[in-house]
Amino acid sequence: MNIDTSRHPCFNDEMRHFVARVHLPVASQCNIQCNYCSRKFDCVNESRPGVTSALLEPNAAAAYIEKYLASNMPLGVAGIAGPGDPFADPEPTLRSLRLVREKYPQIILCAATNGLALAPHVPVLQELGVSHVTVTVNTVNPAIGAKIYSWVRFKKKVYRGEEGASVLLENQRAGIRELKKAGITVKINSVVLPGINDDHMETVARRMQEIGADIFNCLPLYANADTPFAQLPQIPPQRIKKIKQTIEKFIPVMNHCARCRADAAGLISENPNNQNTNALILAANVKAMHNHEKPGIAAVS
Ligand code: SF4
Ligand code: SF4
Repeated sequence: MNIDTSRHPCFNDEMRHFVARVHLPVASQCNIQCNYCSRKFDCVNESRPGVTSALLEPNAAAAYIEKYLASNMPLGVAGIAGPGDPFADPEPTLRSLRLVREKYPQIILCAATNGLALAPHVPVLQELGVSHVTVTVNTVNPAIGAKIYSWVRFKKKVYRGEEGASVLLENQRAGIRELKKAGITVKINSVVLPGINDDHMETVARRMQEIGADIFNCLPLYANADTPFAQLPQIPPQRIKKIKQTIEKFIPVMNHCARCRADAAGLISENPNNQNTNALILAANVKAMHNHEKPGIAAVS
């Protein structure tokens, strides 16, 4: 495979005005519960991870990309970033990536995960030519993790508190190490939670740099209604800037993240507008239904 991986717009700031990315919203399930996450709501004007207007049938992934290329979008990247975790139920994720890779050998493939079930899938990601993976690591301390995660489901067992956080953090580290052994570029996303992990960001970034992460992205909390962190205050932009200034001394920092929806499509420098996305997902699902055995067409509302 000879793919120009330097053109990924999330990893190369210069490319964000020229190279578009599309998220394939095929991953509906999650294996942990973050205290800031709600996947219940969908608003077309809302741009944040975990939100999609419709689920894409994995068989429809290549047809979906074809529709964007037909509309002359300068598409260079296809990624899977939810609305749940790509490896909580890996089959739709891997089937979609394989179908896209077979039809589009030059496209850059990526995924964004909480890392819990990542490590065992690294060999197949490498085989498929997935070149970039984002892992969300909010802490490296189980005591802090106990405040961030309600539960962690690993190998059919549910863990809570510090035990749950330890299971998650160990698996995140293992997954990141495997990715680096496989030569895959790793970005760390860290959600900055005021009063919970904001004083801990430098430690997280140092540990991630030590195990080989390539780039670090601090995301201010988006406080969702009906979540345990709904009342946490917004973190001032100046505070985020200071944290980034400390961290960028030892690891490159991403400064242009658009906190995209799970069904985002287009240039990341443009405002998201998923109305067209929604229609294209449904059209691709219908096409897949005609071409394959019955897919479950699903809509999230
Ligand atoms: Fe939500 Fe992602 Fe956390 Fe799962 S890993 S609970 S989808 S933010
Ligand atoms: Fe890129 Fe950030 Fe959007 Fe992910 S959320 S596709 S890293 S801009």
